Amino acid sequence: MSEPRDRAKVVEPTVFELSHPGRPGYRLPQLDVPAADLAELLGEKNLRAELPELPELSEPEVVRHFTRLAEMNFHVDRAMYPLGSCTMKYNPKINEEMAALPGFVGVHPEADAAECQGAISLIYNLGRMLAEISGMDEVSLQPPAGASGELAGMLIVRAHHAHNGNPRSKVIVPDTAHGTNPASLTLAGYRAVEVASGPDGRTDVDALSAMVDDETAAFMITNPNTLGVFEDRIAEIVDIIHGVGGLVYLDGANLNASLGIVRPGDVGFDMMHFNLHKTFSTPHGGGGPGSGPIGVKDFLADYLPYPVARRDERKARGLEFDFDYDRPKSIGKVHAAYGNFLVAVKAYAYILTLGPEGLRRVAENAVLNANYLQKKLEPLFELPFDGLCQHEFVLSASRQKEQGVTALDVAKRLLDYGLHAPTVYFPLIVKEALMIEPTETESRASLDRFVEVMTTVAEESASTPELVTGAPTETPVSRLDERRAAKDLDVTWEKS
Ligand SMILES: *Cc1c(COP(=O)(O)O)cnc(C)c1O
Repeated sequence: MSEPRDRAKVVEPTVFELSHPGRPGYRLPQLDVPAADLAELLGEKNLRAELPELPELSEPEVVRHFTRLAEMNFHVDRAMYPLGSCTMKYNPKINEEMAALPGFVGVHPEADAAECQGAISLIYNLGRMLAEISGMDEVSLQPPAGASGELAGMLIVRAHHAHNGNPRSKVIVPDTAHGTNPASLTLAGYRAVEVASGPDGRTDVDALSAMVDDETAAFMITNPNTLGVFEDRIAEIVDIIHGVGGLVYLDGANLNASLGIVRPGDVGFDMMHFNLHKTFSTPHGGGGPGSGPIGVKDFLADYLPYPVARRDERKARGLEFDFDYDRPKSIGKVHAAYGNFLVAVKAYAYILTLGPEGLRRVAENAVLNANYLQKKLEPLFELPFDGLCQHEFVLSASRQKEQGVTALDVAKRLLDYGLHAPTVYFPLIVKEALMIEPTETESRASLDRFVEVMTTVAEESASTPELVTGAPTETPVSRLDERRAAKDLDVTWEKS
């Protein structure tokens, strides 16, 4: 590695610091209507006393500023992004083109249904496709993220049990669960009860049997779970939960591993959410926008968030597609309008582009790529749960820890070699966890490059650990104080 760069050179000033008074990026045309008095139009009390201190930059300055910032950023169009659980796959550009079509971009959420039949038919048809893929009966695209789909799901669980006389009090989650699972069920008024995983990384079915009772509202599970392990006793688990009248919820964030191979609805799941931004290729990271549709079996359909897109081929109400607002048992709305519509357009384009065969190959290649990496990396890092993995797997940097190098250090060192880090310290049951998900869109050459870099970092950890613990040195900023960045966020700007 070369000497650390002079960091001062790569720090980008803010637009405020780049501002020059009198250098606006726009020019207004000559006024060609009579001038009006603003105070008369808006009322004196609504006028600003002082002009806002907006930065003044020319158009090229603005474009270059944001391009420089974008170049400092890591993104999936730049290199492999093996962030476990997040499914950072390549997002085909055709999706963006479709989502940019004027008819989709310009449609207003309050537009009359007669004027946006295309948009409503897309919402309806995507719902049907997701139902077909998952074996669910009805799907709502309204939740804007996986976590939001979970919350909608848990509110449906509550509505269902309340309708039967008792909302019940607890929801069981495995100890491998994503943090959003206990968070959503708590928000819905339930108590999270944790069931342990066995030594094979799967839910301990005996422990589960012992803890279910008539207060069990639901069991919430990810399959394959967050260790990348398929819960092969899932049918038994479903029976145990149904045996006490509970519902079985699938956290569908890992659907990428089973697309076209197994349908959760056929396994007995009552409901699930999808992460369109993971499985169905929408750019994500940096907070969205995403989409977390919620799918349910028929007996829960009345509880879905309203409105629900519907199709009437005979056009009894005059239109083929419209929205059904008349859902008295609905849990209500969980997002404005119909959810993040343009994300739905991207998912729709992706599904149509691949077709059933293509979707199945997504899952097969995702699993193949993960197993290829697992085998190659097994000699270098501890593999707490061995055997075939699904679309991701978890290593532990425990051997490196003995050399004074943590999982975080390994992750930071990868940045110096131009790769994104895997997910670290999750799932919580693995010490020094490195959770790796290559996705199906990486070529063998790019997987081999990842192995090469991981090999170098493992060697450095043994021979020159200070190179790893001091990383990154090649990025625009070095190691950040993450606690401070999260807890003492300071975005104020002092004019000098
Ligand atoms: C990403 C993820 C979620 C949450 O989804 P968001 O869209 O980020 O809210 C839940 N569970 C698992 C297993 C995930 O990977």
